[in-house]
Amino acid sequence: MKTTVSSIEGSRQGLFINGEFVAPKNGNYIASYDPTTGERWYDLAEADADDVAAAVAAANAAFRNPAWRRMTQTDRGALVRKLAELVRANADTLAEIETRDNGKLLKETWAQMRSMPDSYHYFAGMADKLQGDTIPINRADTLNINLREPLGVVGMITPWNSPLMLLTGTLAPCLAIGNTVVIKPSEHATASTLALAELIHEAGFPAGVVNVVTGTGKSAGEALTRHPGVAKYVFTGSTATGRRIAGNAAQNLVPCSMELGGKSPHVVFGDVEIEHAVNGVVSGVFAAAGQTCVAGSRCFVEASIYDKFIDALIARTARIRVGLPTVDDTDIGPLALADQLSKVEGYVASGVKEGAKVAAGGRRPQKEGLSSGGWYYEPTVMVDAQNDMGFMRDEIFGPVVGVMPFRDEAEMIALANDSHYGLASGIWTKDIDRALRFANQIEAGTVWVNTYRSASFMSANGGFKESGYGRRGGFEVMHEFSRLKNVIIDYSGAMQDPFVIRLK
Ligand code: NAD
Repeated sequence: MKTTVSSIEGSRQGLFINGEFVAPKNGNYIASYDPTTGERWYDLAEADADDVAAAVAAANAAFRNPAWRRMTQTDRGALVRKLAELVRANADTLAEIETRDNGKLLKETWAQMRSMPDSYHYFAGMADKLQGDTIPINRADTLNINLREPLGVVGMITPWNSPLMLLTGTLAPCLAIGNTVVIKPSEHATASTLALAELIHEAGFPAGVVNVVTGTGKSAGEALTRHPGVAKYVFTGSTATGRRIAGNAAQNLVPCSMELGGKSPHVVFGDVEIEHAVNGVVSGVFAAAGQTCVAGSRCFVEASIYDKFIDALIARTARIRVGLPTVDDTDIGPLALADQLSKVEGYVASGVKEGAKVAAGGRRPQKEGLSSGGWYYEPTVMVDAQNDMGFMRDEIFGPVVGVMPFRDEAEMIALANDSHYGLASGIWTKDIDRALRFANQIEAGTVWVNTYRSASFMSANGGFKESGYGRRGGFEVMHEFSRLKNVIIDYSGAMQDPFVIRLK
């Protein structure tokens, strides 16, 4: 891979369409900023409907191209494995690029890039395992079979918080199964996806199998989700945008997979080691500066340990080090966007107005070595929270946790489920019966017991309620990215007279 952080600096990044990097037809570019300084880093192409049409046409042609369509399953799987090894060989550079783009800690992007090849290998194994079935039919000399086949062009729209890792869980199985893809990454972090396109080219995928159109949601995103040449959309982003995209897709009767926002409950019972639960709550909400969809941002603590827990939580939060994302002893980097910073500040202020108190954090850090233009915010604990306050209902996507006590299990479940989201949940308890009752009653696509944010590409993840539908990961995705075709074969060799049937 030729691209590096320094080669991107000050450059104009093009679109990747039909196997080559091209300039946008309209000649328009927009700026991408460095979250540690707030300064312009590079310019990305602002694709419009013409560029998107070219990308979808290339993907449709590639889907019909025998070089892809008739490639054996083994060879297709081998191509995905080749890409896995290229990602492995370039993991450090990909991590540096993504950190510079979205401000996520380098040690975290590094860990993500290092684990991504395993994920590609896992999904590559699906290439020769996609199979249909044979079904009874109540008729002699007749075979009734279901074929499973790829869908066609899949449109993938990704957010800025973990662009490549989130893309892998859908791109890798899509390719293994034989689909073609048009990716629209977030305008706030496109560089790592374009670098991946270079690796896709290097791996030898036929031209047009993967295309990347960059630009805003209003321009490139809207054009992609209104295009009639797409067979399915996979969207990862906010619930508001998901609603809009599902509406556009519905006009063409195109199905979607929706990985949306969350306001996940994190529950602590009195029978646990407080220190362990505090570590779980802190990492569950403050990791990645709270910019994770599964952030455990509503914390419910059994009343018997509430005061002790709050003291320990405040003390642990005070030790979190906010700093440059590239430095090893930083725990939390900047927020990815200026707008995110204002949003976090707004929610903390409205929470205070509604009666909650800031028990830790609640401001921009004043620390030597951090640029005043950077989008940093201290990890923040809000006590005296109520489930109906704005900051407890809406997804903030920042380092803010609201904490409140509960008296018993029934009250806790009612509070935890009182949300229009249903993405993830966590419980800390030594009582296995209670943990299982929680897993049974909670309305969330993921349940963590005595851990949080532990994930695997081998299991299917996704949301309930307004957190979305469709699943990423596990064998489930083979069904997400393929369709069934029913084939009935008469092998009697004698077609009956169609008008022989009589009423009596
Ligand atoms: P966002 O909804 O603002 O943007 C996501 C993507 O949608 C971007 O590429 C954007 O350009 C595009 N977009 C915006 N408007 C569009 C439109 N009208 N038509 C088509 N595309 C459009 O989300 P974000 O701020 O980038 O990401 C943060 C959100 O993503 C949070 O809500 C977070 O919870 C969610 N998220 C969910 C998951 C999950 O797996 N459930 C994972 C990561 C992030």
